[in-house]
Amino acid sequence: MTSFAELGLDAVLSQAVAAKGYDTPTPIQTQAIPPILEGRDLLGGSQTGTGKTAAFTLPMLQRLARGRRVSRAPRALVLAPTRELAAQVGESVATYGKGLDLGSAVIFGGVGIHPQIDRLRRGLDILVATPGRLLDHAGQGTVDLSKIEILVLDEADRMLDMGFIHDIRRVLKLLPSRRQNLLFSATYSPEIKALADGILRDPALVEVARRNTAAETVAQLVHPVAKSDKRALLSQLIREGDWHQVLVFTRTKHGANRLAEQLGKDGIPSAAIHGNKSQSARTRALADFKANAIRVLVATDVASRGIDIRLLPHVVNFELPNVPEDYVHRIGRTGRAGEEGCACSLVSADERGLLRDIERLLKREIPVAKIPGFDMKEADGREDARDTSRGSRARSGGRSGGGRDQSRKPRGSSENRNPRGPRRPRRAVR
Ligand code: AMP
Repeated sequence: MTSFAELGLDAVLSQAVAAKGYDTPTPIQTQAIPPILEGRDLLGGSQTGTGKTAAFTLPMLQRLARGRRVSRAPRALVLAPTRELAAQVGESVATYGKGLDLGSAVIFGGVGIHPQIDRLRRGLDILVATPGRLLDHAGQGTVDLSKIEILVLDEADRMLDMGFIHDIRRVLKLLPSRRQNLLFSATYSPEIKALADGILRDPALVEVARRNTAAETVAQLVHPVAKSDKRALLSQLIREGDWHQVLVFTRTKHGANRLAEQLGKDGIPSAAIHGNKSQSARTRALADFKANAIRVLVATDVASRGIDIRLLPHVVNFELPNVPEDYVHRIGRTGRAGEEGCACSLVSADERGLLRDIERLLKREIPVAKIPGFDMKEADGREDARDTSRGSRARSGGRSGGGRDQSRKPRGSSENRNPRGPRRPRRAVR
């Protein structure tokens, strides 16, 4: 088996990785580290959980350490979609770069800008940032991006989903044209391809885990349940399974808040994490969760993106996501880097269309486990036959149908739902 040293990493970096407890590179690391060390551009098809952060951080640090700093301006820029992911990448940079004489900083919105300005003024080598706040700094002239030698776009697909394409293009204009570019994305949409084509020169192509394939180590299950019984089922699963550290996904911020509150009332300490929460509230919730001070973290898709907790044993889809690719991202939170994990989805009758879309994306059926006392029937005996994959149309009484066409649409806005085609035969959840 290859070691980090055999990939070409200097002793100081191999030792830093070993100090984290890793002695064997993951597949993405084995494939990505050598070409990045050579200075090549790279297109990385890799989900979170595969060890991709170290895959770009380690060779980036080595190249910077071997190069020369000529000014206080950063030499490497990592763009990340969310504050959490930026913070996490920043932590990796600090951890792996401990033995090197390199400075780094993380800047994102939602926190005071002045400490960031002070930090940038003192000079640094690596800047990790979310696009919006970076442009704020650029606009105020508090960051100089003209010395960037390495650009990393981390989770580029998510950045596009979140509407950052214009911000990214604005940032690109501030960078010198001669630089190394690394682009990581879990999925390849035409938009990602266009972005990659515009940025990368003769990139090394590195892909681990088949496209849109859920991490193999994650055991996935569907529990059929009436919508109105979901919370009772979740409480039961957590209590009877003696689950600790459960990450639960809801579709809306409001739903996340309500569920965290209800679980709290059931005696299960929980917190919600989503985009409307202040950065300090999000950081605190995550810290409490990591420290086992709360048992359940309820998250929306966007907020969850940067969450990285090793050995996270349970991920629950309280509601299926509207966008099938999000299912893959969600369950990527567990079974990370080869650890065992389990992901279960509480599926009500109205979500059958969404389940179908997810299974089509995964190219396999997710096993169904009925929990005694629970099924899809509502208390009044009716099965809610609406199909939420049609978003607001379903709720406003639109016709029934599948939810496939909007799978490539930006998330989070019900206006994006297409009017449906003809009614598709409905399949009962097995
Ligand atoms: P990432 O895909 O970068 O989000 O990393 C997923 C998780 O894998 C993180 O918790 C890393 O600390 C961990 N990790 C990174 N590299 C390795 C490795 N070589 N062996 C085991 N775990 C790793």
